[in-house]
Amino acid sequence: MISEEEARRKILDAVHPLPERRISLLSGLDCFSGEDYFARLPLPNFDNSAMDGYAVVATSCGTGVRLRVIGEQPAGLDRQLRVSPGEAIRIFTGAPLPAGADAIVMQEDVTRDGAEIVLNVDVDPGEFVRKRGCDLAKGQKILAKGERIRPATTALLASQGFAEVTIGGEVDMAIISTGDELVKPGEKIKQGQIYESNSVLLQGLAQRCGASVRSVEYCPDDRDSLTEALKRGIQHDVLIISGGMSVGEHDMVQSTLRSLGAKIDIWRVAIKPGKPFLFGRVDKCAVFGLPGNPVSAFITFLQFVRPAILKMMGAINLDLPAAPARLVVDLINDGDRPHYVRGKLEDGKFSPVGRQESHALFGLSQSNALLRVAVGESLKAGEIVDLQIWDG
Ligand code: AMP
Ligand code: MG
Repeated sequence: MISEEEARRKILDAVHPLPERRISLLSGLDCFSGEDYFARLPLPNFDNSAMDGYAVVATSCGTGVRLRVIGEQPAGLDRQLRVSPGEAIRIFTGAPLPAGADAIVMQEDVTRDGAEIVLNVDVDPGEFVRKRGCDLAKGQKILAKGERIRPATTALLASQGFAEVTIGGEVDMAIISTGDELVKPGEKIKQGQIYESNSVLLQGLAQRCGASVRSVEYCPDDRDSLTEALKRGIQHDVLIISGGMSVGEHDMVQSTLRSLGAKIDIWRVAIKPGKPFLFGRVDKCAVFGLPGNPVSAFITFLQFVRPAILKMMGAINLDLPAAPARLVVDLINDGDRPHYVRGKLEDGKFSPVGRQESHALFGLSQSNALLRVAVGESLKAGEIVDLQIWDG
């Protein structure tokens, strides 16, 4: 049995970023940037008006002053107008600032009188003018390689004229659920059988990481079926197998993988739940064997599979989001493995929910955060603890 840290290090050493791709901006949403991006243009790209109003020379303005309106500058094409003291140019939001102008008076602050306006306010230089480059300078870094592309990131790239973005590689994944007792939801169940739920759990988690799940199979606990399913599974970048990872007579995943030439790097990790976790490689395929108990599959996915997928997709941050919270109960770990306690973070407080056993799917379904309690650690109610947030 190895430590979680060692398992994570071994896995991350074994997997590598996949080849980058260029795609349309919107398709890049939630992917990781494949390169550093720098501003091609300053933002704004020219001095312009922040309001509908009048472009003026501030020093010639003041409450009660009359100005002659000599032209109009809409947003769009620059009409190359010039304004002098005593004059005003009708202007609209986003329109280029006429030469000579250094301020905009809002239209609400003037009284229009034919070809003239009367100012109802004093005017300071720079008022309602958006200066070229005040938001972003040309050449400034706007997106780092490995950073996640969010809606505002796509907008910023678009504002720079980029129609496409380079993103990290696509992770092509297969999932195999093993177990003679498993029945597909929607079908009839007999005494002793259970509905299979890990494949949807793992598909959901994988999709949230951005992996492309291309194949999902059920497989009974017999060596021939398993051999055939594994042969198909290892054609993908990542194969996740659920169940059959322990030491019972029906747990044949490890030996079948070996018979297909797999190199098993990890089997059994000091983590609760999830001890029988396995990681190996066959050719270019990274193989993750997760315990069949749903909570074990969930925890080992988040701790070991997720960071590997993210690394393959080119991400820099491989950690789950963290948040501090006030613990509501005492918690002690007197076992020999770090314990991931499932619970609910609400209003800054964390309380464990449901049964803390590896089959207890209902409790898991009510939780949104994990608290890792180290071996020998004793936490007291009221303490501030660091959580891993897996939802929200
Ligand atoms: P195993 O790891 O195969 O020994 O399975 C451990 C426990 O998880 C058993 O109670 C199984 O019935 C259950 N289990 C295994 N695979 C699944 C699955 N795909 N969906 C739901 N429960 C499962
Ligand atoms: Mg089984």
